[in-house]
Amino acid sequence: MKVIDTIRAAAEGDGRTVFSFEFFPPKTEEGVENLFERMDRMVAHNPAFCDITWGAGGSTADLTLDIANRMQNMICVETMMHLTCTNMPVEKIDHALDTIKANGIQNVLALRGDPPHGQDKFVQVAGGFACALDLVQHIRAKYGDYFGITVAGYPEAHPDMIQGDGGATLDAYDSDLAYLKRKVDAGADLIITQLFYDTDNFLKFVNDCRQIGINCPIVPGIMPINNYKGFLRMTGFCKTKIPSEITAALEPIKDNEEAVRAYGVHLGTETCRKILAHGIKTLHLYTLNMEKSALAILMNLGLIEESKVSRSLPWRRPANVFRV
Ligand code: FAD
Repeated sequence: MKVIDTIRAAAEGDGRTVFSFEFFPPKTEEGVENLFERMDRMVAHNPAFCDITWGAGGSTADLTLDIANRMQNMICVETMMHLTCTNMPVEKIDHALDTIKANGIQNVLALRGDPPHGQDKFVQVAGGFACALDLVQHIRAKYGDYFGITVAGYPEAHPDMIQGDGGATLDAYDSDLAYLKRKVDAGADLIITQLFYDTDNFLKFVNDCRQIGINCPIVPGIMPINNYKGFLRMTGFCKTKIPSEITAALEPIKDNEEAVRAYGVHLGTETCRKILAHGIKTLHLYTLNMEKSALAILMNLGLIEESKVSRSLPWRRPANVFRV
């Protein structure tokens, strides 16, 4: 089934909130088996779908295909597979799409991809595609309506558009938005955003998308803060804005992992509450293959049952110890 149909049915039916979990392929066989155990527990909470990333530069292609197949057919969760253009001539792209089609997977997140490790700039491979727009066009031309196609959206503009610390210029932001519309017009039916910590800016982005005629659902990508160094690494890589109140809240607790995780759950919960209050009823959780913070946020929001969740989740710290 296509994820977009589940999201639309929820919106048009009882208006319930739906959520999803993203995972990445672990490096070892043991890691893969642990991931499936975790996924099995998380799927018991009834996500609308789960997705699996495509390693940078196509480094995990076979493993991603294998995990996607097991997710769809053994874990029995609606699965979305990420697919990038990096190092992928069209034959390899089609092999990946044919494989998931044969395995009953109907959802693809179509991406350009980052440059492979050690390279600064994305380079189009011979016989391959230059950008996600090309990939969306190809999927629609070759596979018709079989796949639901999701694309990436950037509330603060794509990092390539950002020079220095000041964020993207207005022109760069507008051009990024216009390009996003082209991806949707070419056949994408869903947008998942890059992680962000400035919720007002995300809401502005959704509004800006609507103003230029992007009408498909825009799903916020929520990454709970699990540890301080990881948070700095990820936001640095993605050039994500960090509001000053978040820096101020993290600074005094940055060496206390448990406190950082509890703050991450609190912040994630409040972020989602604000988004839901604005009528956006789909949440996408970047789990980084960890279950506790994602489940704790959903439990705080009343979206999953407390009785089904393990007692060791980091949500019990009273919310009033944090100022956000
Ligand atoms: P594109 O949509 O092709 O474009 C990126 C930017 O380039 C655009 O925003 C635009 O500013 C500019 N641009 C490109 N083409 C044009 C054009 N023709 N005209 C005008 N402007 C243009 N990476 C992985 O390697 N594996 C993953 O599994 C993965 N999953 C991701 C999931 C999500 C939800 C997100 C947000 C990102 C993910 N990424 C992943 C990272 C992604 O591959 C990078 O951000 C990459 O640099 C851009 O991919 P894209 O699909 O957004 O590119």
